[in-house]
Amino acid sequence: MVAPTVTDRTTLRRRRDRGVHESAVIDAVLDEGLMCHVGFTAGGSPFVVPMAFARVGDDLYLHGAAANRTLRALAAGAEACVTVTLLDGLVLARAAFHHSMNYRSVMLFGRASRVVDEEEQLLASAALLDHMAPGRSADARPPAPAELRSTLILRFPIAEASAKVRTGPPVDDPGDLTLPTWAGVVPVGLVAGTPVDDPDLLAGTPVPGYAADHPRRPR
Ligand SMILES: Cc1cc2nc3c(=O)[nH]c(=O)nc-3n(C[C@H](O)[C@H](O)[C@H](O)COP(=O)(O)OP(=O)(O)OC[C@H]3O[C@@H](n4cnc5c(N)ncnc54)[C@H](O)[C@@H]3O)c2cc1C
Repeated sequence: MVAPTVTDRTTLRRRRDRGVHESAVIDAVLDEGLMCHVGFTAGGSPFVVPMAFARVGDDLYLHGAAANRTLRALAAGAEACVTVTLLDGLVLARAAFHHSMNYRSVMLFGRASRVVDEEEQLLASAALLDHMAPGRSADARPPAPAELRSTLILRFPIAEASAKVRTGPPVDDPGDLTLPTWAGVVPVGLVAGTPVDDPDLLAGTPVPGYAADHPRRPR
């Protein structure tokens, strides 16, 4: 992986100790996150739009309908900021002031390019499926040419990027440690439940392992 460029806008000013610019950390957050938020401005207004994504090497792929405003704005060259956030815990301190959250998050800046090559479109489509459930692309019917034409697929570079990570217990003032108030971390996370069959499922179709034993199932 190419190390991300540290620029003025990816330099952390608050809590620099929590900032990371290593590709391995950034990629791990991107690979664990299931959705991103795409921020951009269009017509003088800011927008922040939640979307699915998938990482392949040093790029993220985004996709949606050809008429999608967000993707069209990005394809036309709009500068964007893409974030992915993993919430790991609620940090309850003794003092109201020191309550916090444990998290791992990534912020990317850049401009997207439209993917026009059919081979890359198919690669992006498979990556988006496999990011949701590893191995899904091998089972799903691949996109037909007409479906690819009605889809806008973008490649967004993981080049100007930062990660920020908070872990561990609350950090209370020494003078508050004798308070009889519970303090600690309530772990939270996104977990997959038991798969629910589609009502139209062909009788006898088994639930595949990547759904029954999804990586997000509690272990
Ligand atoms: C978890 C998740 C994953 C998604 N993944 C994808 C994806 O991979 N590809 C994709 O194309 N779309 C995805 N969507 C839908 C996406 O958020 C947008 O609604 C969609 O892309 C349409 O974008 P647009 O710019 O054309 O919106 P427009 O229809 O032009 O938006 C018009 C207005 O509708 C409202 N609006 C639009 N989207 C939302 C929203 N999500 N929530 C609340 N209000 C909204 C806003 O007020 C917005 O200004 C996802 C949404 C979620 C929550």
